[in-house]
Amino acid sequence: MEREIQHKLLINSLRSLGIRQSVLDAMMRVPRHLFVPEDVIASAYTDTPLPIGHGQTISAPHMVAIMCDRLDLRVGQKVLEIGTGSGYNAAIMAELVGKEGHIYSIERIQQLADLAKKNIEAAGYENVTIIRDDGSGGSLDHAPYDRINVTSAAPSIPNPLIQQLSNGGIMTIPVGNFTQRLYIVRKELDGSVHKEAEGEVVFVPLIGKYGFQEHE
Ligand code: SAH
Repeated sequence: MEREIQHKLLINSLRSLGIRQSVLDAMMRVPRHLFVPEDVIASAYTDTPLPIGHGQTISAPHMVAIMCDRLDLRVGQKVLEIGTGSGYNAAIMAELVGKEGHIYSIERIQQLADLAKKNIEAAGYENVTIIRDDGSGGSLDHAPYDRINVTSAAPSIPNPLIQQLSNGGIMTIPVGNFTQRLYIVRKELDGSVHKEAEGEVVFVPLIGKYGFQEHE
């Protein structure tokens, strides 16, 4: 089947999850095949995670859709992503915050940070900055952030990430060891923090100071 048709069918299939229209539109504008390795490119428009090397994966489209939906991204926002991977999720968020907004995305594996930079450039986004570092404690350089998206699973919600979230901010983060749940963390305008757990998810581990240790 033609790539464009597969892309449309995939995005249409996400409607049944109740994903907001702005997220579906953004996902329609970002070509996922630019973010997957050559050997799995035929599967770029199937709703599954795919290997991107170094034991890591590009998340399944429905997972990216759910996280971006819960983040309620708005034009002009400053977003921190932890776990750049292929750069695909960063590109979708870049669409949603527009040229007035900015995505700072941290990746611990140098080769993936390089790959993501290439992918983001090929897709034409100028509002994404990729940083090679352990992002488990966030980054003070550009804090506070309107939104924080953690795309690997943490043993618990790192405190520095809550601190780096703006009042009125939202963070999505998978938490857990063998079974993980997606947490939506809201920091209200008065600074109070509310955590809500959604369904079970499967993510690669967040490895670092506030994550799991490397040998685990
Ligand atoms: N959002 C990505 C998928 C992420 S897979 C995409 O759209 O393709 C999770 C990524 O988190 C992996 O690339 C992994 O190397 C990275 N990661 C794990 N621990 C990290 C840490 N402490 N800091 C930054 N990145 C980390």
